[in-house]
Amino acid sequence: MSSRRENGTSGAGRSGPELLVVGAGPAGLTSALAASALGIDVTVLEAEPADRVRAGSRALFVHRENLRRLDRMSPGLGMKIAGFGITWRARRTFYGGREVFAREYPAPDTESLPPYASLRQIDTEQFLMDACLDAGVRFVWDAPIEDVRSTPDGVTALTADGRSWQAPYLIGADGGRSAVRKAVGITLEGGRSTDYRVAVDLEDPVDTAPSVTGERINHYRHPRVDLRNLFIVPFAGGRQVDLQCRTKEDAEIMGRPEEVRRWLPKVVDPGYLDRILWIARYPCLQLVADRFTDRHRRVLLAGEAAHLFAPLGARGMNSGIADADAAAGAVGLALRSANPERAKDAVDKFADARKQAGDHNCAAASAGLAHVRAGNVVARTRQSLAARLSPVVPRFGAWLDEAPYGPRGAIRQKAGTY
Ligand SMILES: Cc1cc2nc3c(=O)[nH]c(=O)nc-3n(C[C@H](O)[C@H](O)[C@H](O)COP(=O)(O)OP(=O)(O)OC[C@H]3O[C@@H](n4cnc5c(N)ncnc54)[C@H](O)[C@@H]3O)c2cc1C
Repeated sequence: MSSRRENGTSGAGRSGPELLVVGAGPAGLTSALAASALGIDVTVLEAEPADRVRAGSRALFVHRENLRRLDRMSPGLGMKIAGFGITWRARRTFYGGREVFAREYPAPDTESLPPYASLRQIDTEQFLMDACLDAGVRFVWDAPIEDVRSTPDGVTALTADGRSWQAPYLIGADGGRSAVRKAVGITLEGGRSTDYRVAVDLEDPVDTAPSVTGERINHYRHPRVDLRNLFIVPFAGGRQVDLQCRTKEDAEIMGRPEEVRRWLPKVVDPGYLDRILWIARYPCLQLVADRFTDRHRRVLLAGEAAHLFAPLGARGMNSGIADADAAAGAVGLALRSANPERAKDAVDKFADARKQAGDHNCAAASAGLAHVRAGNVVARTRQSLAARLSPVVPRFGAWLDEAPYGPRGAIRQKAGTY
Protein backbone atom coordinates (compact mmCIF):
# COMPACT_ATOMS: atom_id res chain seq x y z
CA MET A 1 0.00 0.00 0.00
CA SER A 2 1.15 3.48 -0.77
CA SER A 3 2.06 5.98 1.89
CA ARG A 4 1.30 8.94 -0.42
CA ARG A 5 -0.55 11.67 1.50
CA GLU A 6 -1.25 14.60 -0.82
CA ASN A 7 -4.04 17.09 -0.36
CA GLY A 8 -5.99 18.57 -3.23
CA THR A 9 -8.16 17.12 -5.95
CA SER A 10 -7.81 13.98 -7.95
CA GLY A 11 -9.30 13.73 -11.43
CA ALA A 12 -9.00 11.85 -14.66
CA GLY A 13 -5.51 11.47 -16.01
CA ARG A 14 -3.51 11.22 -12.76
CA SER A 15 -2.28 8.05 -11.16
CA GLY A 16 -5.21 6.79 -9.16
CA PRO A 17 -5.74 6.03 -5.50
CA GLU A 18 -6.11 2.54 -4.05
CA LEU A 19 -9.60 3.25 -2.79
CA LEU A 20 -12.40 5.56 -3.88
CA VAL A 21 -15.07 6.48 -1.36
CA VAL A 22 -18.26 7.94 -2.80
CA GLY A 23 -20.02 10.27 -0.34
CA ALA A 24 -18.72 12.46 2.50
CA GLY A 25 -21.44 11.75 5.08
CA PRO A 26 -20.55 9.98 8.33
CA ALA A 27 -20.16 6.59 6.63
CA GLY A 28 -17.94 7.96 3.85
CA LEU A 29 -15.79 10.05 6.17
CA THR A 30 -15.32 7.10 8.53
CA SER A 31 -14.45 4.82 5.60
CA ALA A 32 -11.81 7.28 4.45
CA LEU A 33 -10.41 7.75 7.94
CA ALA A 34 -10.28 4.01 8.63
CA ALA A 35 -8.63 3.35 5.27
CA SER A 36 -6.12 6.11 5.78
CA ALA A 37 -5.22 4.71 9.22
CA LEU A 38 -4.44 1.41 7.46
CA GLY A 39 -2.09 3.18 5.06
CA ILE A 40 -4.48 2.97 2.10
CA ASP A 41 -4.32 5.81 -0.42
CA VAL A 42 -7.91 7.07 -0.49
CA THR A 43 -9.87 9.71 -2.39
CA VAL A 44 -13.40 10.81 -1.42
CA LEU A 45 -15.78 11.85 -4.21
CA GLU A 46 -18.63 14.03 -2.96
CA ALA A 47 -21.55 15.40 -4.99
CA GLU A 48 -21.94 18.59 -3.01
CA PRO A 49 -19.60 21.59 -2.84
CA ALA A 50 -16.96 21.97 -0.10
CA ASP A 51 -18.83 24.88 1.48
CA ARG A 52 -22.17 23.06 1.79
CA VAL A 53 -24.17 23.43 4.98
CA ARG A 54 -25.67 20.14 6.20
CA ALA A 55 -29.06 20.44 7.87
CA GLY A 56 -30.32 19.40 11.26
CA SER A 57 -29.32 17.35 14.26
CA ARG A 58 -30.33 14.01 12.63
CA ALA A 59 -28.28 11.17 14.16
CA LEU A 60 -27.64 12.27 17.74
CA PHE A 61 -25.71 9.41 19.27
CA VAL A 62 -22.26 8.03 18.84
CA HIS A 63 -22.11 4.86 20.91
CA ARG A 64 -19.05 3.87 22.93
CA GLU A 65 -18.20 1.05 20.56
CA ASN A 66 -17.91 3.63 17.79
CA LEU A 67 -16.07 6.17 19.94
CA ARG A 68 -13.51 3.38 20.48
CA ARG A 69 -13.37 2.65 16.77
CA LEU A 70 -12.78 6.33 15.98
CA ASP A 71 -10.08 6.51 18.67
CA ARG A 72 -8.34 3.61 16.98
CA MET A 73 -8.47 5.28 13.55
CA SER A 74 -7.41 8.68 14.84
CA PRO A 75 -5.99 8.61 18.37
CA GLY A 76 -7.94 10.97 20.64
CA LEU A 77 -10.86 11.44 18.23
CA GLY A 78 -13.34 9.39 20.31
CA MET A 79 -12.43 11.33 23.44
CA LYS A 80 -12.73 14.63 21.55
CA ILE A 81 -16.24 13.75 20.36
CA ALA A 82 -17.18 12.51 23.84
CA GLY A 83 -15.87 15.77 25.37
CA PHE A 84 -18.04 17.82 23.01
CA GLY A 85 -21.15 15.64 23.31
CA ILE A 86 -23.30 15.12 26.38
CA THR A 87 -24.73 12.10 28.18
CA TRP A 88 -28.17 12.05 29.75
CA ARG A 89 -28.40 13.32 33.33
CA ALA A 90 -31.92 11.94 33.68
CA ARG A 91 -34.45 9.84 31.80
CA ARG A 92 -38.12 10.25 32.47
CA THR A 93 -41.09 8.51 30.92
CA PHE A 94 -44.71 9.66 31.05
CA TYR A 95 -47.90 7.91 30.06
CA GLY A 96 -50.92 10.11 29.41
CA GLY A 97 -49.12 12.95 31.18
CA ARG A 98 -48.31 10.94 34.35
CA GLU A 99 -44.71 10.04 35.19
CA VAL A 100 -44.17 6.26 35.18
CA PHE A 101 -40.36 6.10 35.25
CA ALA A 102 -37.50 8.36 36.33
CA ARG A 103 -33.79 7.73 36.74
CA GLU A 104 -30.99 10.18 37.37
CA TYR A 105 -27.35 9.74 36.44
CA PRO A 106 -24.26 11.29 38.00
CA ALA A 107 -22.08 13.62 35.94
CA PRO A 108 -19.96 11.48 33.59
CA ASP A 109 -16.36 10.58 34.32
CA THR A 110 -14.37 12.67 31.89
CA GLU A 111 -11.30 10.39 32.00
CA SER A 112 -12.82 7.49 30.07
CA LEU A 113 -15.18 7.03 27.14
CA PRO A 114 -18.85 7.39 28.13
CA PRO A 115 -21.48 4.83 26.99
CA TYR A 116 -22.37 7.28 24.21
CA ALA A 117 -21.98 10.92 23.25
CA SER A 118 -25.01 12.91 22.19
CA LEU A 119 -24.28 15.65 19.67
CA ARG A 120 -25.69 16.77 16.34
CA GLN A 121 -24.69 14.79 13.28
CA ILE A 122 -23.25 17.96 11.72
CA ASP A 123 -20.90 18.29 14.69
CA THR A 124 -19.86 14.63 14.46
CA GLU A 125 -19.26 15.12 10.74
CA GLN A 126 -17.08 18.17 11.43
CA PHE A 127 -14.90 16.12 13.81
CA LEU A 128 -14.62 13.36 11.20
CA MET A 129 -13.83 15.83 8.44
CA ASP A 130 -11.10 17.52 10.49
CA ALA A 131 -9.57 14.12 11.28
CA CYS A 132 -9.68 13.15 7.58
CA LEU A 133 -7.94 16.37 6.56
CA ASP A 134 -5.31 15.85 9.27
CA ALA A 135 -4.76 12.34 7.92
CA GLY A 136 -4.27 13.68 4.40
CA VAL A 137 -7.42 12.21 2.83
CA ARG A 138 -8.08 13.79 -0.58
CA PHE A 139 -11.54 15.20 -1.35
CA VAL A 140 -13.08 15.93 -4.71
CA TRP A 141 -16.13 18.13 -4.20
CA ASP A 142 -18.84 18.79 -6.82
CA ALA A 143 -18.43 15.24 -8.09
CA PRO A 144 -21.89 13.64 -8.33
CA ILE A 145 -21.17 10.06 -9.35
CA GLU A 146 -23.67 8.83 -11.86
CA ASP A 147 -22.26 5.50 -12.89
CA VAL A 148 -19.88 2.91 -11.49
CA ARG A 149 -18.29 0.23 -13.66
CA SER A 150 -16.86 -2.74 -11.86
CA THR A 151 -14.63 -5.38 -13.48
CA PRO A 152 -12.56 -8.24 -12.05
CA ASP A 153 -9.60 -5.83 -11.93
CA GLY A 154 -11.04 -2.65 -10.46
CA VAL A 155 -13.65 0.08 -10.52
CA THR A 156 -14.32 3.26 -12.50
CA ALA A 157 -16.58 5.98 -11.12
CA LEU A 158 -18.03 8.48 -13.58
CA THR A 159 -19.87 11.79 -13.39
CA ALA A 160 -22.44 12.87 -15.98
CA ASP A 161 -20.05 15.55 -17.30
CA GLY A 162 -17.50 12.91 -18.28
CA ARG A 163 -15.01 12.98 -15.40
CA SER A 164 -13.82 9.59 -14.19
CA TRP A 165 -11.74 8.07 -11.40
CA GLN A 166 -10.29 4.59 -11.16
CA ALA A 167 -9.15 2.45 -8.27
CA PRO A 168 -8.89 -1.22 -7.32
CA TYR A 169 -11.75 -0.78 -4.79
CA LEU A 170 -14.66 1.57 -4.14
CA ILE A 171 -16.79 2.07 -1.04
CA GLY A 172 -20.27 3.35 -1.84
CA ALA A 173 -21.32 5.58 1.06
CA ASP A 174 -23.59 7.85 -0.93
CA GLY A 175 -26.70 7.61 1.24
CA GLY A 176 -30.19 6.20 0.83
CA ARG A 177 -30.57 7.06 -2.85
CA SER A 178 -27.14 5.58 -3.61
CA ALA A 179 -26.18 5.84 -7.27
CA VAL A 180 -23.36 3.36 -6.55
CA ARG A 181 -25.78 0.73 -5.27
CA LYS A 182 -28.05 1.14 -8.29
CA ALA A 183 -25.13 1.09 -10.76
CA VAL A 184 -23.93 -2.32 -9.55
CA GLY A 185 -27.44 -3.81 -9.44
CA ILE A 186 -27.86 -4.16 -5.68
CA THR A 187 -31.40 -3.63 -4.41
CA LEU A 188 -32.87 -2.68 -1.05
CA GLU A 189 -35.32 -5.17 0.43
CA GLY A 190 -37.91 -4.53 3.09
CA GLY A 191 -40.60 -1.98 3.54
CA ARG A 192 -41.76 1.46 4.39
CA SER A 193 -43.89 1.50 7.51
CA THR A 194 -46.85 3.80 7.85
CA ASP A 195 -44.97 5.73 10.53
CA TYR A 196 -44.12 9.34 9.92
CA ARG A 197 -42.39 11.60 12.37
CA VAL A 198 -41.70 15.31 12.77
CA ALA A 199 -38.37 16.32 14.31
CA VAL A 200 -37.81 19.85 15.63
CA ASP A 201 -34.35 20.96 16.76
CA LEU A 202 -34.23 23.54 19.53
CA GLU A 203 -31.25 25.50 20.75
CA ASP A 204 -30.82 25.69 24.54
CA PRO A 205 -30.17 29.11 26.11
CA VAL A 206 -26.46 29.23 27.03
CA ASP A 207 -27.16 29.35 30.77
CA THR A 208 -29.40 26.24 30.89
CA ALA A 209 -28.44 23.98 33.82
CA PRO A 210 -26.89 20.58 32.88
CA SER A 211 -29.70 18.83 34.81
CA VAL A 212 -32.17 20.35 32.34
CA THR A 213 -30.05 20.17 29.19
CA GLY A 214 -29.35 16.49 29.81
CA GLU A 215 -32.91 15.34 30.44
CA ARG A 216 -34.37 12.78 28.02
CA ILE A 217 -38.15 12.68 28.15
CA ASN A 218 -40.40 10.08 26.59
CA HIS A 219 -44.14 10.69 26.44
CA TYR A 220 -46.66 8.04 25.55
CA ARG A 221 -50.01 9.52 24.58
CA HIS A 222 -49.16 13.11 25.45
CA PRO A 223 -52.45 14.78 26.42
CA ARG A 224 -51.37 18.17 25.03
CA VAL A 225 -50.75 16.89 21.51
CA ASP A 226 -53.93 14.83 21.12
CA LEU A 227 -52.37 11.68 22.61
CA ARG A 228 -49.51 11.45 20.13
CA ASN A 229 -46.21 9.99 21.37
CA LEU A 230 -43.30 12.37 21.78
CA PHE A 231 -39.59 12.13 22.60
CA ILE A 232 -37.45 15.01 23.82
CA VAL A 233 -33.82 14.06 23.31
CA PRO A 234 -30.97 16.31 24.43
CA PHE A 235 -27.79 16.95 22.46
CA ALA A 236 -24.82 19.27 23.02
CA GLY A 237 -26.33 22.76 22.82
CA GLY A 238 -29.99 21.83 22.45
CA ARG A 239 -32.67 19.21 22.17
CA GLN A 240 -34.63 17.40 19.51
CA VAL A 241 -38.40 17.13 19.90
CA ASP A 242 -39.57 14.12 17.92
CA LEU A 243 -43.31 13.74 17.39
CA GLN A 244 -44.87 10.49 16.23
CA CYS A 245 -47.59 11.33 13.71
CA ARG A 246 -50.63 9.26 12.82
CA THR A 247 -50.30 9.30 9.04
CA LYS A 248 -48.26 10.91 6.30
CA GLU A 249 -50.92 13.62 6.03
CA ASP A 250 -50.79 14.18 9.79
CA ALA A 251 -46.98 14.65 9.58
CA GLU A 252 -47.47 17.00 6.64
CA ILE A 253 -49.71 19.21 8.80
CA MET A 254 -47.90 18.87 12.16
CA GLY A 255 -44.57 19.69 10.49
CA ARG A 256 -45.71 22.99 8.97
CA PRO A 257 -43.79 25.82 10.69
CA GLU A 258 -47.01 27.62 11.75
CA GLU A 259 -48.38 24.36 13.17
CA VAL A 260 -45.12 23.60 15.02
CA ARG A 261 -45.39 27.05 16.61
CA ARG A 262 -48.89 26.09 17.79
CA TRP A 263 -48.08 22.74 19.45
CA LEU A 264 -44.47 23.23 20.55
CA PRO A 265 -45.20 25.60 23.50
CA LYS A 266 -47.55 22.94 24.88
CA VAL A 267 -44.69 20.46 25.29
CA VAL A 268 -41.62 22.62 26.04
CA ASP A 269 -40.97 26.03 27.61
CA PRO A 270 -42.58 28.63 25.26
CA GLY A 271 -39.23 30.49 25.24
CA TYR A 272 -38.03 27.84 22.77
CA LEU A 273 -40.31 29.30 20.09
CA ASP A 274 -37.51 31.73 19.27
CA ARG A 275 -34.96 28.93 19.28
CA ILE A 276 -36.17 26.62 16.52
CA LEU A 277 -33.16 25.53 14.45
CA TRP A 278 -34.67 22.98 12.05
CA ILE A 279 -37.91 21.16 11.31
CA ALA A 280 -38.01 17.86 9.42
CA ARG A 281 -40.75 15.42 8.48
CA TYR A 282 -39.59 11.90 7.75
CA PRO A 283 -40.96 8.40 7.14
CA CYS A 284 -39.60 5.38 9.02
CA LEU A 285 -37.99 3.10 6.46
CA GLN A 286 -36.88 -0.48 7.10
CA LEU A 287 -34.70 -1.55 4.21
CA VAL A 288 -31.50 -3.59 3.87
CA ALA A 289 -29.47 -4.25 0.70
CA ASP A 290 -29.75 -7.78 -0.67
CA ARG A 291 -25.92 -7.83 -0.90
CA PHE A 292 -23.22 -5.51 0.45
CA THR A 293 -20.81 -6.06 -2.44
CA ASP A 294 -20.98 -6.43 -6.22
CA ARG A 295 -20.31 -9.59 -8.18
CA HIS A 296 -16.62 -8.73 -8.74
CA ARG A 297 -16.07 -7.93 -5.03
CA ARG A 298 -14.70 -4.50 -5.96
CA VAL A 299 -17.56 -2.33 -4.67
CA LEU A 300 -18.49 -2.38 -0.97
CA LEU A 301 -21.51 -0.57 0.49
CA ALA A 302 -21.56 1.30 3.80
CA GLY A 303 -24.16 3.31 5.72
CA GLU A 304 -27.50 4.28 4.27
CA ALA A 305 -26.38 3.18 0.82
CA ALA A 306 -26.88 -0.30 2.31
CA HIS A 307 -29.65 0.13 4.88
CA LEU A 308 -32.33 2.48 6.15
CA PHE A 309 -33.74 1.95 9.63
CA ALA A 310 -36.38 3.55 11.82
CA PRO A 311 -34.54 6.02 14.12
CA LEU A 312 -35.44 4.18 17.35
CA GLY A 313 -32.28 2.82 18.91
CA ALA A 314 -29.93 5.15 17.00
CA ARG A 315 -28.76 2.38 14.69
CA GLY A 316 -28.55 4.37 11.43
CA MET A 317 -25.32 6.29 11.76
CA ASN A 318 -23.87 3.91 14.36
CA SER A 319 -24.14 0.94 12.06
CA GLY A 320 -22.86 3.07 9.17
CA ILE A 321 -19.69 3.75 11.15
CA ALA A 322 -19.32 0.02 11.83
CA ASP A 323 -19.89 -0.80 8.13
CA ALA A 324 -17.28 1.77 7.17
CA ASP A 325 -14.68 0.37 9.55
CA ALA A 326 -15.30 -3.18 8.36
CA ALA A 327 -15.27 -2.15 4.68
CA ALA A 328 -11.94 -0.34 5.02
CA GLY A 329 -10.51 -3.36 6.87
CA ALA A 330 -11.64 -5.69 4.08
CA VAL A 331 -10.12 -3.44 1.41
CA GLY A 332 -6.86 -3.39 3.40
CA LEU A 333 -6.78 -7.20 3.48
CA ALA A 334 -7.72 -7.48 -0.19
CA LEU A 335 -5.03 -5.00 -1.26
CA ARG A 336 -2.40 -6.91 0.71
CA SER A 337 -3.43 -10.26 -0.69
CA ALA A 338 -1.40 -11.61 -3.61
CA ASN A 339 -4.03 -14.26 -4.20
CA PRO A 340 -7.18 -12.91 -5.97
CA GLU A 341 -9.39 -15.55 -4.33
CA ARG A 342 -8.21 -14.50 -0.86
CA ALA A 343 -8.90 -10.87 -1.78
CA LYS A 344 -12.45 -11.81 -2.81
CA ASP A 345 -12.83 -13.81 0.36
CA ALA A 346 -11.96 -10.78 2.50
CA VAL A 347 -14.65 -8.74 0.75
CA ASP A 348 -17.18 -11.58 1.02
CA LYS A 349 -16.57 -11.86 4.75
CA PHE A 350 -17.22 -8.14 5.14
CA ALA A 351 -20.38 -8.37 3.03
CA ASP A 352 -21.80 -11.36 4.92
CA ALA A 353 -21.06 -9.93 8.36
CA ARG A 354 -22.51 -6.51 7.59
CA LYS A 355 -25.57 -7.96 5.86
CA GLN A 356 -26.22 -9.97 9.02
CA ALA A 357 -25.73 -6.86 11.18
CA GLY A 358 -28.02 -4.87 8.85
CA ASP A 359 -30.79 -7.46 9.14
CA HIS A 360 -30.34 -7.56 12.93
CA ASN A 361 -30.46 -3.76 13.26
CA CYS A 362 -33.45 -3.51 10.96
CA ALA A 363 -35.37 -6.06 13.03
CA ALA A 364 -34.42 -4.35 16.30
CA ALA A 365 -35.40 -0.88 15.05
CA SER A 366 -38.64 -2.30 13.67
CA ALA A 367 -39.43 -3.90 17.05
CA GLY A 368 -38.91 -0.52 18.76
CA LEU A 369 -41.15 1.10 16.18
CA ALA A 370 -43.87 -1.53 16.61
CA HIS A 371 -43.76 -0.93 20.35
CA VAL A 372 -44.26 2.84 20.14
CA ARG A 373 -46.87 2.43 17.42
CA ALA A 374 -48.90 -0.01 19.57
CA GLY A 375 -50.97 -0.80 16.53
CA ASN A 376 -53.49 -3.17 18.10
CA VAL A 377 -55.66 -3.47 21.19
CA VAL A 378 -53.37 -6.01 22.89
CA ALA A 379 -50.30 -3.78 22.56
CA ARG A 380 -52.20 -0.69 23.73
CA THR A 381 -53.70 -2.56 26.70
CA ARG A 382 -50.26 -3.89 27.69
CA GLN A 383 -48.79 -0.39 27.69
CA SER A 384 -51.68 1.09 29.61
CA LEU A 385 -51.57 -1.73 32.20
CA ALA A 386 -47.80 -1.32 32.59
CA ALA A 387 -48.33 2.42 33.17
CA ARG A 388 -51.03 1.82 35.75
CA LEU A 389 -49.03 -0.82 37.61
CA SER A 390 -45.69 1.02 37.45
CA PRO A 391 -46.05 2.72 40.89
CA VAL A 392 -46.17 -0.73 42.53
CA VAL A 393 -44.10 -2.71 40.03
CA PRO A 394 -41.30 -0.32 38.95
CA ARG A 395 -39.99 -2.71 36.31
CA PHE A 396 -43.13 -2.04 34.24
CA GLY A 397 -42.15 1.64 34.17
CA ALA A 398 -38.60 0.65 33.23
CA TRP A 399 -40.02 -1.48 30.41
CA LEU A 400 -42.01 1.48 29.07
CA ASP A 401 -38.82 3.53 29.19
CA GLU A 402 -36.63 0.99 27.40
CA ALA A 403 -38.89 -0.79 24.93
CA PRO A 404 -38.75 1.95 22.25
CA TYR A 405 -35.06 1.18 21.71
CA GLY A 406 -35.69 -2.34 20.53
CA PRO A 407 -35.47 -5.75 22.14
CA ARG A 408 -32.28 -5.34 24.12
CA GLY A 409 -32.09 -1.58 24.47
CA ALA A 410 -29.85 0.67 22.38
CA ILE A 411 -27.35 1.39 25.10
CA ARG A 412 -27.03 -2.18 26.28
CA GLN A 413 -26.53 -3.39 22.71
CA LYS A 414 -24.11 -6.29 22.67
CA ALA A 415 -20.68 -5.25 21.43
CA GLY A 416 -20.06 -5.99 17.79
CA THR A 417 -23.63 -6.16 16.56
CA TYR A 418 -24.04 -2.62 15.19
C1 LIG B 1 -34.74 13.51 10.73
C2 LIG B 1 -33.67 12.44 10.85
C3 LIG B 1 -33.37 11.94 12.09
C4 LIG B 1 -32.41 10.94 12.21
N1 LIG B 1 -32.12 10.48 13.44
C5 LIG B 1 -31.17 9.54 13.58
C6 LIG B 1 -30.79 9.08 14.87
O1 LIG B 1 -31.34 9.52 15.89
N2 LIG B 1 -29.82 8.14 14.97
C7 LIG B 1 -29.19 7.62 13.85
O2 LIG B 1 -28.27 6.79 14.00
N3 LIG B 1 -29.52 8.04 12.63
C8 LIG B 1 -30.49 8.99 12.46
N4 LIG B 1 -30.80 9.43 11.23
C9 LIG B 1 -30.15 8.83 10.09
C10 LIG B 1 -28.79 9.41 9.85
O3 LIG B 1 -28.92 10.78 9.56
C11 LIG B 1 -28.18 8.61 8.72
O4 LIG B 1 -28.06 7.29 9.20
C12 LIG B 1 -26.82 9.11 8.28
O5 LIG B 1 -26.85 10.41 7.76
C13 LIG B 1 -26.34 8.18 7.18
O6 LIG B 1 -25.03 8.50 6.87
P1 LIG B 1 -24.42 8.10 5.48
O7 LIG B 1 -23.03 8.62 5.49
O8 LIG B 1 -24.67 6.68 5.21
O9 LIG B 1 -25.32 8.88 4.41
P2 LIG B 1 -25.56 10.43 4.23
O10 LIG B 1 -25.46 11.16 5.51
O11 LIG B 1 -26.81 10.55 3.45
O12 LIG B 1 -24.33 10.89 3.33
C14 LIG B 1 -24.25 10.56 1.97
C15 LIG B 1 -23.28 11.52 1.30
O13 LIG B 1 -23.13 11.12 -0.05
C16 LIG B 1 -23.29 12.25 -0.90
N5 LIG B 1 -23.81 11.74 -2.17
C17 LIG B 1 -25.08 11.34 -2.44
N6 LIG B 1 -25.16 10.91 -3.71
C18 LIG B 1 -23.93 11.06 -4.25
C19 LIG B 1 -23.40 10.79 -5.55
N7 LIG B 1 -24.15 10.28 -6.52
N8 LIG B 1 -22.09 11.04 -5.78
C20 LIG B 1 -21.30 11.55 -4.78
N9 LIG B 1 -21.77 11.83 -3.54
C21 LIG B 1 -23.06 11.57 -3.28
C22 LIG B 1 -24.24 13.15 -0.15
O14 LIG B 1 -24.15 14.49 -0.57
C23 LIG B 1 -23.77 12.96 1.28
O15 LIG B 1 -22.71 13.81 1.60
C24 LIG B 1 -31.75 10.43 11.06
C25 LIG B 1 -32.06 10.94 9.81
C26 LIG B 1 -33.00 11.94 9.69
C27 LIG B 1 -33.32 12.49 8.33
